[in-house]
Amino acid sequence: MVYDVVVIGGGIVGLATAMKLLEQQPALKVVVLEKESRIAQHQTGNNSGVIHSGVYYKPGSLKAKNCLEGYKMLLEFCKAENIPFEICGKIIVAVSENEIGQLQNIYARGVENGLTGIKLIDKEEIKAIEPHCAGVKGIFVPQTGIINYTEVSKRYFEKIIAAKGEIRLGEKVVDIQQQPSSIKVITATNEFETRLVVNCAGLYSDKIAALTNANINIKIIPFRGEYYVLKKTKEHLVKNLIYPVPDPAFPFLGVHFTRFIEGGVEAGPNAVLAYAREGYTKSKINLPELFETLTFSGFIKVAKKYWKTGAAEIYRSYSKAAFTTALQRLIPEVQKNDLMPGEAGVRASAIDAEGNMVDDFVIEQQQNIIHVLNSPSPAATASLSIGKHISEMAIKML
Ligand SMILES: Cc1cc2nc3c(=O)[nH]c(=O)nc-3n(C[C@H](O)[C@H](O)[C@H](O)COP(=O)(O)OP(=O)(O)OC[C@H]3O[C@@H](n4cnc5c(N)ncnc54)[C@H](O)[C@@H]3O)c2cc1C
Repeated sequence: MVYDVVVIGGGIVGLATAMKLLEQQPALKVVVLEKESRIAQHQTGNNSGVIHSGVYYKPGSLKAKNCLEGYKMLLEFCKAENIPFEICGKIIVAVSENEIGQLQNIYARGVENGLTGIKLIDKEEIKAIEPHCAGVKGIFVPQTGIINYTEVSKRYFEKIIAAKGEIRLGEKVVDIQQQPSSIKVITATNEFETRLVVNCAGLYSDKIAALTNANINIKIIPFRGEYYVLKKTKEHLVKNLIYPVPDPAFPFLGVHFTRFIEGGVEAGPNAVLAYAREGYTKSKINLPELFETLTFSGFIKVAKKYWKTGAAEIYRSYSKAAFTTALQRLIPEVQKNDLMPGEAGVRASAIDAEGNMVDDFVIEQQQNIIHVLNSPSPAATASLSIGKHISEMAIKML
């Protein structure tokens, strides 16, 4: 089987990349290899379903550029393809005076990133938007929306097939061998010869990079995000999306309330170390993976620096009362009994050997391979822009 491009990973980033490659060069022979029996089984299928506006990201960063561009591309795509989405807006609220400084920093970033219509709001304006929300000051972000990213991925899938691309499910990549004039990608059952490889393996992107001896300074550490769902009778407490002021030291946004596009409201996600890369429950443990995490110098440094926050997250993961208390900062009326356990997602968080949690997207080129080594939130929102960028890189390399 001989291809121009093999894309590893059938999540939203791999699928967007394959679709964009075929849009730009319809004659290319492209295949997506996905280890699961369905696409979008991991981060893409287990996220909050928010269309991010770009308000949080450092101006000029890959996250800011791709989120802003990807946002427009996603909305155009969904309109053209009749995929349901809703631009409902969100509020970020400071619940105490000492959070106002950080709230104002976020507002300034939003303005610098060119978001029009965002505004600082006071207590009364917060109540007018979200009547049950407590907050001393907030930001209203009109651009934020909600969507189902599995539905978006399915449409990318259909477009790839219509453009004569291939998607091979149940193909777990186990080795990559450089040949004199091509690359051999080996799965448990097949071999694929190709001119170029794009690694979009999400939670395993560092492992795929290691197969090609790429000299990477990053390891993927899995952080599980657990959710609760609001009881139907309490859904009226949340109109749209309510977020806290995030801790600037962490790449996570803090537990928040999100309305689903299909109806219903979820609360979360927290961020606890998962004991397996695909550890969606507390009891799922993969000992070799856990050992690798715990002995990685970068993780040890992060754990030493942030042990208090980490311990609090673990406590909140086991204690529903503590989770409820965190949510009550935003909506005091929410009670423990109003919350039912929801699904969980696992974030692929890149940490470098020096103990820094890598914030920005990382896309690296190594000979005839492109590695997507960090594609955290907002990569689902930004998928079409990331896919366009990677496909342009790939076409230059071919
Ligand atoms: C809890 C949570 C909430 C989030 N909320 C949002 C949000 O509201 N908005 C937003 O924009 N983003 C959000 N994100 C981030 C977003 O989901 C991710 O950035 C995005 O899905 C990344 O897509 P991906 O294709 O890189 O990874 P994935 O979706 O994880 O896809 C990687 C694929 O590679 C496959 N794979 C791995 N190893 C191999 C192998 N050896 N061989 C073959 N295939 C392999 C996997 O099976 C998987 O399907 C959230 C993420 C999480 C976890």
